[in-house]
Amino acid sequence: MARRKIVAGNWKMNMTPSQAVALCAELKDLVKSDDVDVVYCVPAVDIVPVVEAVKGTNVEVGAENMYFEEKGAYTGEISAAMLVDAGVKYVIIGHSERRDYFKEDDVLLNKKVKKAFEAGLTPILCCGETLEQREMGITLDWIRMQIKSDLVGVSAQQVASMVIAYEPIWAIGTGKTATTEQAQEVCKAIRDCIAEVYDAATAEAVRIQYGGSVSAANAAELFAQPDIDGGLVGGASLKADFGKIVGYNK
Ligand code: PEP
Repeated sequence: MARRKIVAGNWKMNMTPSQAVALCAELKDLVKSDDVDVVYCVPAVDIVPVVEAVKGTNVEVGAENMYFEEKGAYTGEISAAMLVDAGVKYVIIGHSERRDYFKEDDVLLNKKVKKAFEAGLTPILCCGETLEQREMGITLDWIRMQIKSDLVGVSAQQVASMVIAYEPIWAIGTGKTATTEQAQEVCKAIRDCIAEVYDAATAEAVRIQYGGSVSAANAAELFAQPDIDGGLVGGASLKADFGKIVGYNK
C-alpha cells in the first residue's frame, strides 16, 4: 500500500498565542488536502489555542518536545499525558536544536519515544548529520546509530506507525537544501536500517520525511523520491508558502 505523505510545520520558538491563531486562519484554506496529512508542531503555550483554531479542518497539532516522566517535580517540563489531554497527536523528538542546545542524547530520546507511544502520541523522530560528519564520509553510519539507539525496545508495530525525519543539520535554517539525491540516499538508508532491525513490512510502512530548507520551490522534487514521504518544514511553515508545500503535487 502506498504511504500517505505527511507535511509537518515546525514553528520552533516563533508565534505568540494570538499570532498563532492568526496564522491558522491565514493558512486554513491554503493547506486543505485530501491526500497529504498536515501537522502544525507548535510551541507549548500555543497548543491549546491552535487545537481550538484548527478544529473542523484537516490539520492535526503536534508538540515540539515532551518529557518522558509521567508527572512530578520536573519544573518547566511537559508530559505526554498533558499533550494528549490538550488534543495533541504528534510530538517531535530529537530535533537537532534540542540535541545540540539542550544536550539531549540518544538514551534520553529513546525514553521519550517510548513514553510518546505509551501515551498514544505519534513521534516524529529526527536524525541528521553535521557538515563535518558528511565531509568525513560517516553520514550513513551516524544516522543508523541514531535510529538504532533511539528505537531500542520499540516494537515493529510502533515503528510502522511513526514518522522519522531526516534533517541534515547543515541544511536546517540555512537555505542550503540537501540535493534530491543526498536526501533520497539517506531516507533509503533509514528504511533499509528499519528493514534490517525489524522487517520489510515495517520498513515499507514507516513514513520518512526530509527536512532542511524545504520550500515551495523544491518540495515537489524532494517529495517525488521513492523513500521521501513528505517534509518537516521550519521557516517556510510560518507563511503562505506552506500551503504550496502541502499542495506540492498540484
Ligand atoms: C526544522 O526546523 O526542522 C527545519 C527543517 O527548518 P528549516 O525548514 O527552516 O530549515
